[in-house]
Amino acid sequence: MHIDILTLFPEMFDGVLQNSIMKRAQEQGAFSHQYVNFRDYTENKHNKVDDYPYGGGAGLVLSPQPIFDSIQSIKDSAEKPPRVVLLCPQGEPYSQQKAEELSEEDHLVFICGHYEGYDERIRQELVTDEISIGDYVLTGGELGAMVVIDSVVRLLPGVLGNEQSAPMDSFSSGLLEHPHYTRPADFRGHKVPDVLLSGNHAKIDEWRHYQSLKRTFERRPDLLEGRELSAKEQSWLDEWKNS
Ligand code: SAM
Repeated sequence: MHIDILTLFPEMFDGVLQNSIMKRAQEQGAFSHQYVNFRDYTENKHNKVDDYPYGGGAGLVLSPQPIFDSIQSIKDSAEKPPRVVLLCPQGEPYSQQKAEELSEEDHLVFICGHYEGYDERIRQELVTDEISIGDYVLTGGELGAMVVIDSVVRLLPGVLGNEQSAPMDSFSSGLLEHPHYTRPADFRGHKVPDVLLSGNHAKIDEWRHYQSLKRTFERRPDLLEGRELSAKEQSWLDEWKNS
């Protein structure tokens, strides 16, 4: 996968993309990235990327020209049109399903906004997806782009050491993940559940499934709406609802 990041602050990404799994993934060739500072594409004398909003009001709006021309130059050197993601609080709420969908692409472009927002023609003409990382407002799109990039890249083949881990994660199965324990089996009197020490893998799987559903029921019941439940899952749910 190749990722282009349109940003006025490329150095903000270094901590995320130059460390840990993201760094290793690039060394392994799972993905590459390039920063496009759209200030470099401005056609005005002072390299201004923003301007006052028509109609008045507070704040500055990102101008269309530098972003249109940056995207055009990316498209000119691409084999096929990339997916162009605009980070904005008005976008589709980000989810694991969306991460899975984006991880199937060969080429992603992220546009990181600042100030009051974007000229509306950027949304209308250039963007394939608008993503919000939550119902709050950040100062810029960089943190949002980092969140999306990290969650997409870890799904690429070979990026996670243990190929098993991504499908087991919270949300991948539609449920939150079960609790984890590691050594020691008794930490200051707090014991690991006996079943995990039993070596009985069928029983361990059932315990994990039970815990996963229970945790989802307690913390995120919205995730269970519309989910098809097995008879066993239904009986567990009835038990918790009646307790
Ligand atoms: N005035 C805009 C509004 O009310 O929708 C908010 C602009 S915000 C101060 C500046 C930039 O930060 C946005 O253009 C976007 O790129 C980014 N941003 C802010 N909150 C975000 C969120 N929840 N998800 C993704 N990007 C966000």
